[in-house]
Amino acid sequence: PASSMEELVSLCKRRGFIFQGSEIYGGLQGFYDYGPLGVELKNNIKAAWWRSNVYERDDMEGLDSSIIMHRLVLRHSGHEATFSDPMVDNKKNNKRYRLDHLVKDQKADVIAKVAAEMGEDASNFPALVAALNKQAARASEALKTAGVRDPFSGEVGDWTEPKPFNMMFKTTIGPIADEESYGYLRPETAQGIFTNFKNVVDSTSRRLPFGIAQIGKAFRNEITPRNFIFRVRELEQMEIEFFCVPGTDEQWHEHWLERRLSWWEAQGVPRSKIEILDVPKEDLAHYSKRTYDLMYDYPTLGHEEIEGIANRSDYDLGSHTKSQAELGLVAKVEENLDSIAKLTIPHPETNKPVVPFVIEPSAGVDRAMLAVLSEAFTKETLENGNERIVLKLRPHLAPIKVAVIPLARNKPELVELARSIKNDLQKLGLGRILLEDSGNIGKAYRRHDEVGTPFCVTVDFDTIGQSAEGADQSLKDTVTIRDRDTLQQERIQISELSAWIQAKLR
Ligand code: ATP
Repeated sequence: PASSMEELVSLCKRRGFIFQGSEIYGGLQGFYDYGPLGVELKNNIKAAWWRSNVYERDDMEGLDSSIIMHRLVLRHSGHEATFSDPMVDNKKNNKRYRLDHLVKDQKADVIAKVAAEMGEDASNFPALVAALNKQAARASEALKTAGVRDPFSGEVGDWTEPKPFNMMFKTTIGPIADEESYGYLRPETAQGIFTNFKNVVDSTSRRLPFGIAQIGKAFRNEITPRNFIFRVRELEQMEIEFFCVPGTDEQWHEHWLERRLSWWEAQGVPRSKIEILDVPKEDLAHYSKRTYDLMYDYPTLGHEEIEGIANRSDYDLGSHTKSQAELGLVAKVEENLDSIAKLTIPHPETNKPVVPFVIEPSAGVDRAMLAVLSEAFTKETLENGNERIVLKLRPHLAPIKVAVIPLARNKPELVELARSIKNDLQKLGLGRILLEDSGNIGKAYRRHDEVGTPFCVTVDFDTIGQSAEGADQSLKDTVTIRDRDTLQQERIQISELSAWIQAKLR
């Protein structure tokens, strides 16, 4: 695995996985662009998730809902009122920070002083943050007295009281900008699933229990985006809302926890690197009955959330439904006089309309990519003493499956044969096959080690029966295959290549 974030950032830029957004104009903080290899890896991660959660199950449907949503959706979901993080300003330089990030970044003795000022225990960080949040005036004093430094200037700051900062991006819809013509960029894909619950039930005749899966972009105006693609303002999520009969929710919660852990394992992210955090009651989001956060051990950052698996009870459908009063909801919801749909489904035993409970496994694609890259990153010392960097990605995730390399690029016969081999392999539908005719075989191998290409196929003079003297005609029509991990080279007949590759990459 990678030993630091810098190592990954440098590989990602050098080889074309990830670039800073709007870079040629100085960059835009919290936005990243996925390059030629990044887009392949990202697509492969999403495809693996979709296969596991839609195709390999019999109780799931897919969805792709729109990014910009009606303001009433985000009002009734609770996001307008509560999707906010506390922030504080430094009056000395007008820099603004997320309160918990600011405190977490201080030296241990400063954190201890803040905790003492607030009458809290420094070892219970969530409780300390909650206290700072609740007692704004006291918090401002505590930050000043403890000498909390500004991470930007390094100097002791003059801190304001913490204020909630709503993280939703708002945008104008249509040609007239009046009071009501605005919408929000969704802060999670989940709301599109809830607002389509009835459409999906009516068009598929699903009965409980069943789920809806969606992969898509979400937007959060994070106060302090940071740590490369770990915390960004434009992110992508892979979310499932699994609808079940109230009373069976806890069982399904355990089912999804187990299933998601084994999926991560299959992507090369082992259980031993993921801590399961049973989120304490006082830290639960407004909709949650219970949440498991999967905390992956990121290089440099340590354990941070890669996926949240929440029991959302009947909160969401209950918030978006009409006729709330007659439905016997368990969750505490705000009154909804705007919705025109009743979001119920027949109970599988009694046939009486019921608002189902929801289990939500929600994973970030960007954070998945960071974890997968980090686990695959390997530095090896070879027998000859040279060092190599190799990305030991699972083959189904590798951005390039096979590189076909003509030994000399100025020899048309070699290049043409390599091209035709490439075209044949491409037809297998395994993903990207690359014709690598840059000329230098050593460099090509090094590059493909670093981007995780499982196999390099080399077309040389023996392949066309033309090696210098006394050409060995028995090698005609054979190519060498080099294995990324073992570095073993094997010669096989071109006619057997497709079957060989297919067997290895299945
Ligand atoms: P955090 O506490 O780290 O801000 P969160 O608890 O707000 O995360 P959720 O609302 O549970 O996150 O979102 C579900 C998933 O979406 C997270 O597990 C994470 O993988 C991803 N995610 C959330 N916010 C971001 C972000 N700003 N950048 C990248 N991924 C994110």
